[in-house]
Amino acid sequence: MRCLYCNFEDTKVIDSRDADEGRSIRRRRECEKCHKRFSTYEQADLNLSVEKRDGSIEEYDKQKMIKSVRIATNKRLKEEEIVVLVEQLEGQIRADHKEKVTSREIGEIIMKALKNKDEVAYLRYVSVFKGFGSGKRFVKEVDKISE
Ligand SMILES: [Zn+2]
Repeated sequence: MRCLYCNFEDTKVIDSRDADEGRSIRRRRECEKCHKRFSTYEQADLNLSVEKRDGSIEEYDKQKMIKSVRIATNKRLKEEEIVVLVEQLEGQIRADHKEKVTSREIGEIIMKALKNKDEVAYLRYVSVFKGFGSGKRFVKEVDKISE
């Protein structure tokens, strides 16, 4: 890792600790030449492809995921709640060691998480995700919640 200040090629790690509740590692580095210090963050790369319903495959995009949850839940959740939700989703996918998920699987994980969090947001999400043609399916989902 090159020094941010003088571009010298050797920096040593002087401290290393978990950050962001263990989701990343913060390393404190010191340049061996100019002795300035800076931090780097190491994060696991979620190397994931998403198979969409039409069969096409695209790379997982966190911002896109956040946006779709935001739209689907229609302002029911705060921005930071959406981010937490998406990070839970990522954590779950990571724990399963998957390299490819279908958009359907993602939708289902989000639905499960929302169900415990906010029922109205959940129903909105379900209606967008499943694309209800009639009110029948929607009523069925409401029934499931009230059980
Ligand atoms: Zn330096």
